[in-house]
Amino acid sequence: MAMRQFKAESKKLLDLMINSIYTNREIFLRELISNASDACDKRYFKSLTDTSVGITKDDLKIHIQPDKESRTLTISDNGIGMTKDELEKNLGTIAKSGSFDFKTENQSDNIDIIGQFGVGFYSAFMVAKKVTVISRAQGEDTAWKWESTGVEGYTLTETDKDDVGTEIILVMKDDTDTDHYSEYLEDYEITNLVKKYSDYIRFPITMYREKSRQKPKPEDAGDDYKPEYETYTELETLNSMVPIWKRPKSEVKDEDYNEFYKNKFMDYTDPLRVITSRTEGTATYTALLFIPGSTPYDYYTKEYEKGLALYASGVMIMEKCGDLLPDYFSFVKGVVDSLNISREMLQKDNQLKLMRSSLEKKIKNELHAMLVNDREKYETFWKNFGRQVKFGVYGDYGMHKDLLGDLLMFYSAKEQKLVTLDEYIEKMPEGQKCIYFAAGDDTDRLGKLPNAQLVLSKGYDLLLCTEDVDEFCLQVMHDYKEKEFQNINTGDLGLETEDEKKAAEAAETENKDLFEEIKKDLNGKIKEVKVNPTLQEHPVTLSSAEGGISMEMEKVLRRMPNAEGVESTKVLELNPNHTVFAALKAAHAAGDTDKVAKYAELLYDQALLIAGLPIEDPVAYAQLVCGLMQ
Ligand code: ADP
Repeated sequence: MAMRQFKAESKKLLDLMINSIYTNREIFLRELISNASDACDKRYFKSLTDTSVGITKDDLKIHIQPDKESRTLTISDNGIGMTKDELEKNLGTIAKSGSFDFKTENQSDNIDIIGQFGVGFYSAFMVAKKVTVISRAQGEDTAWKWESTGVEGYTLTETDKDDVGTEIILVMKDDTDTDHYSEYLEDYEITNLVKKYSDYIRFPITMYREKSRQKPKPEDAGDDYKPEYETYTELETLNSMVPIWKRPKSEVKDEDYNEFYKNKFMDYTDPLRVITSRTEGTATYTALLFIPGSTPYDYYTKEYEKGLALYASGVMIMEKCGDLLPDYFSFVKGVVDSLNISREMLQKDNQLKLMRSSLEKKIKNELHAMLVNDREKYETFWKNFGRQVKFGVYGDYGMHKDLLGDLLMFYSAKEQKLVTLDEYIEKMPEGQKCIYFAAGDDTDRLGKLPNAQLVLSKGYDLLLCTEDVDEFCLQVMHDYKEKEFQNINTGDLGLETEDEKKAAEAAETENKDLFEEIKKDLNGKIKEVKVNPTLQEHPVTLSSAEGGISMEMEKVLRRMPNAEGVESTKVLELNPNHTVFAALKAAHAAGDTDKVAKYAELLYDQALLIAGLPIEDPVAYAQLVCGLMQ
């Protein structure tokens, strides 16, 4: 009988399991039971369309049988079973379910992953020195036996089995001083583990339990009769079979929800919030939803697939139903169990739409409640998924801005922490008309921008937006509760005093020629030159012309493919009260066009630097500066 080799990654994982120092080995049972339950689901599902399957839901079960003498624990199911090919494919290769990112090379990390994610079938090797799988697939006459004692490989031979299904026989490892594998052969331990991890499994998990009872008192028993006892075995169902989402919330402990969440959705952190919802009427369903406590590693990639598990009266009909969730809530995990949904109805999807809009409202309200009642948690949520919510505002041409607006948070320059838009508006002093924001890479730098200081000097707060989506989001929103958003570097802020305004107008008329000359020198890089009397100690700044794309958006867009030609229209703003301005004027008056051109180039480059934009030719810039120093 030829020994077959495991695939390389499987071998690594297997090795890890066998030599695991992981203390939470007991999860192997949960993993094997989950597999058995999935197999039952699959067979039941098949029976709905294929009468030859010949079973009803009540026929399906999972049975556990310990045997202390042979040190075996057998877990059998009458689910769908596996063909020879499937045995080879499923048990010879690590599951491709995505639950386990095997790139983690660090051994100790891996050991953590075992308990947190669960790694399926191979976890059996944490407790067993030999694993035998006997399986007969639905529709097949022959059965196959897969057998392995570890990394050397496995054998696959033909065998007999009366019924469709799978039997997994574990030969427990020998006990050592520290590890008592015999534990897993004890009735009470098995019962506890099933209750702990697999209580909600919807198929009965049965086991023969040894029990004791009092023998009937004999008719002729005398006065000195002492009751006698006998042991007998009885088939017991260990799990309650009520799915956790069907149980009243008051009866379920937080840790049960957390445990369920972590198992079912392969997360290792507790959820931030558990949402339960029951509705009746047009869309009758029970939902159990979770806001994850951490960002899935693939969340912001194309690989991430949103969706809720969809059940119809307790039977799973779809593992990830994407239609139940809008993209902006794609982080939500959970289960929806609907009374009146059938597979056929999925196509019509009217029912789904109703559920989706009702779930959407529910999720929104729960998030808002979290914002109001549990700020710290909400900020964690925001850190993990805020970006997605902002994309939600931006997407679909702003259609969802009213739904999502009050969930948004941005960093406040004044308060140095995250604030909501409502909080911003609440603190607006009299006279402030718009919501000011600055967009760029880092909050510290943004706060130092000339216009930022101007806004702050008026006593107004400023939102410092450091994510690429921020400005797009705010632009699509246009306003919040009738307060318009104003980028501090776009257009005219209108914050100058009457006197400053008059002085600026005068300076602009007076220096018309000079400005024309600068514009020509800068050769298409700017749209116009203006005077900005509010600049205080800064000689120069750049702003974007009203209405176009801003400089920050230009930066973001340029990172995308096919972005050539994307350019903001820039306005060079000069401080009329700065000595540099006087120097410019003097050079112009003296007819020194060369000097004016050099100054113009320098000021433009400086303004780019302040705005956090790259200068086109740093070498030329450095030479210019040196030239002037000599
Ligand atoms: P996962 O369950 O995450 O896919 P496993 O390693 O636990 O990974 O199992 C691999 C595959 O083997 C399963 O996806 C399933 O197709 C198959 N399998 C495991 N146990 C059973 C079983 N009891 N009955 C039928 N198929 C099974």
